[in-house]
Amino acid sequence: MTRKALIAGNWKMHLTVEEACTLAREVIQAVPTGADDREVLIAPPFTALREVGKMLVSSHVLLSGQNVCWEKNGAFTGEIAPAMLKDCGASHAIIGHSERRQIFHESDEMIHKRVTGALKYGISPVLCIGETLKERESEQTFTVLETQVKAGLRGISPDDMQKVVVAYEPVWAIGTGKTASKEQAQEAHVFIREVIAKLYEKTIAEKLRILYGGSVKPANIDELMSQPDIDGALVGGAALDGASFARIINFTV
Ligand code: PEP
Repeated sequence: MTRKALIAGNWKMHLTVEEACTLAREVIQAVPTGADDREVLIAPPFTALREVGKMLVSSHVLLSGQNVCWEKNGAFTGEIAPAMLKDCGASHAIIGHSERRQIFHESDEMIHKRVTGALKYGISPVLCIGETLKERESEQTFTVLETQVKAGLRGISPDDMQKVVVAYEPVWAIGTGKTASKEQAQEAHVFIREVIAKLYEKTIAEKLRILYGGSVKPANIDELMSQPDIDGALVGGAALDGASFARIINFTV
C-alpha cells in the first residue's frame, strides 16, 4: 500500500495578510514540479485565507483552516463555518490541535463535533492527537491515543474515513525543539493504524494518512519520512520559514 505523503504547515497565529502571501509564494515555488508522490497543505490564519486561497488556485498547494465549527452558520461568535473555509478555497481543517485542547479547553466531545461537521459540509479533517509528557512518563501514551482516536472519529462512516487525516503530535514535542525519535513516532503510528483497523477494517487503516508533528525541521524530516507508517508531517515553527519548509517539502527517503 502506498500512501501519498502530505506535508502540512500550520502557521498558527502568525503573519499579516501581506506576510502570508509572501510565504505562500515561497511555498508554491518550493513544490517540486511533477511530483505526484506528495501533497502540500498550508493553514494560514483565518484573516489571510482568502488572499492566500486566490494565490493557490493554479498551484499544487492545498489550503486548510486551523479549526472549523460543526454548524452551517449561526450565533457562534469567534468560530468559522465549513462553507466559509470552502469559500476561500480550503479543502481541509486542522481539528483538535493540542493548543486548542490545552489552552482553549476543547474536549474530545467538541473535537468529535468538529470532525463530524467538517465532513458533513465537505471539509477534510486533519485530526490531531497526542499525549503529554506526564502521560508518556506514566506509560499512558497508547491509552490516550486510543481514547482520542475513538472519541474523535466516533460514528464516522468508512466512506468518510477516506477523507480523514490523523496527525500524531506528542504534546511534549510541539514547539519545544524535542522531536520524538523516529522509532517512537513509528511505534505510535503503527498503534494508531491498529486502532483504526479494529474500528473499521484493515484496508481503511492502510489507506489512512498519519502525519507526525512535533519540532519537525529540515534536519529530521528525512529520517522521519523513512519510517513506513509516517505518511507526512504537520509542521509549526519550521513552516514559517520559506527555506526550511521548502527543504521539508523536498524530503528524500
Ligand atoms: C504544530 O503546531 O502542530 C507543531 C508541530 O509545531 P512545531 O513544529 O513548532 O513543533
